[in-house]
Amino acid sequence: MQFNDLKLMDSLLRAVRAEGYAEPTPIQVQAIPHVLNGKDIVGCAQTGTGKTAAFALPILQRLATAAQSQQRRSIRVLVLSPTRELASQIGDSFAAYGRYTGLKHGVIFGGVGQQPQVELLRRGIDILVATPGRLLDLMQQGLIRLNTIEIFVLDEADRMLDMGFIHDVRKIISALPTQRQTLLFSATMPPDIQDLADRILVKPVRVEVTPQATTVEKIEQSVFFVEKQDKRALLEYVLSDQAIRRVLVFTRTKHGANKLVQQLDRARIQAEAIHGNKSQTARERALANFKSGKTRVLVATDIAARGIDVDDVTHVINYDLPNEPESYVHRIGRTARAGASGTAYSFCDADERAYLRDIEKLIRLRVPVVAEHPYASPLGIPAATSAQSTNRQPTGRNSSANGNPRSANGSTPSGAPSGDRKPRRRSRHRRSSVGQRPSMG
Ligand code: AMP
Repeated sequence: MQFNDLKLMDSLLRAVRAEGYAEPTPIQVQAIPHVLNGKDIVGCAQTGTGKTAAFALPILQRLATAAQSQQRRSIRVLVLSPTRELASQIGDSFAAYGRYTGLKHGVIFGGVGQQPQVELLRRGIDILVATPGRLLDLMQQGLIRLNTIEIFVLDEADRMLDMGFIHDVRKIISALPTQRQTLLFSATMPPDIQDLADRILVKPVRVEVTPQATTVEKIEQSVFFVEKQDKRALLEYVLSDQAIRRVLVFTRTKHGANKLVQQLDRARIQAEAIHGNKSQTARERALANFKSGKTRVLVATDIAARGIDVDDVTHVINYDLPNEPESYVHRIGRTARAGASGTAYSFCDADERAYLRDIEKLIRLRVPVVAEHPYASPLGIPAATSAQSTNRQPTGRNSSANGNPRSANGSTPSGAPSGDRKPRRRSRHRRSSVGQRPSMG
């Protein structure tokens, strides 16, 4: 299947060529004809599958072919996105795909002054990409009206729910004309989202891309059993492999992300953090540095990393395992973008074993264990998994890859603080609750 077969207009085909896309991705093949036909869609797809183009291209075509009814430019499309990063990226996609159509788009989100956004609205746009909070704010101030919306896209609906935006989303939907086309995308379909989908979509066509397990199969995954207090030293050890060029490290909390950056800084590893407590400018700067290669390690929390669209992320490291197995799939999907291959490492301490089991159940794969590393927690390797554990070292590494072969007593590569030189053989904080879900603070 080629883009030419999808009945897209020339100006869009030119833009797609300019982006260097050789052929449409599966979600694009499935969704584009239905969106062009005006159908409602419920799409099960995660970021990284090409879903933005799957809705943006046919939307641009519908707008370009159906003339504006009013004299003045009014907003005809609303795309709601849970995060600012994703909203900006969707805006960039509309700009790229719509560059030869003459259609205008605008992006609004919180955390920055509203005046430039108000002026943008006043000048007139066809497509509005927004996060729910700021949009509702502007609506309540009477600065924006949604009564001319023809197409509504709710992106990453499950994330909206996770982030507590669902109430805002419902309010926004109630301000939309009932006569409209609605597209809902969600990586997972929890009952609340299914319920919302049932209420806002009319005879939707369901489009779904390759089951998640198939997507993650492309990614080389491994797990390191380690005790909590050794995770930082293990990270430094793993990062001594220079093949790990551009790496996204996930922590559970914002505080954890900041602390890790400070520690990596002390170990002279260029790292920056990206999370919700950072200002918009700081987040953009961190992302730009990461994209350009100036920063090798970007430490992120799940929410901030959502929708980060950086090609060529060589590795994803789960410094903390996520407590929702779906997040694991989202996280590791940041590597192996659009067909490339990638590597994901997970650090699993005794308290996180239940999370690992949930993940393996979801992805229907046993994640191979890297048994040979200086911080291996012997207590962490259960009999059931050790049978298929591997002695495989991280990619590009062999026992002497960094010039610091692991000695008989298991000492670490140089650079690790001396206090951490010896692998611990016994957990100081062993809990009786291993195997149960630890309660999250
Ligand atoms: P998305 O899932 O929309 O976040 O897209 C993920 C990445 O795939 C982005 O970097 C897009 O530029 C890229 N992409 C989208 N469609 C295609 C395509 N047909 N061929 C190659 N890359 C694509």
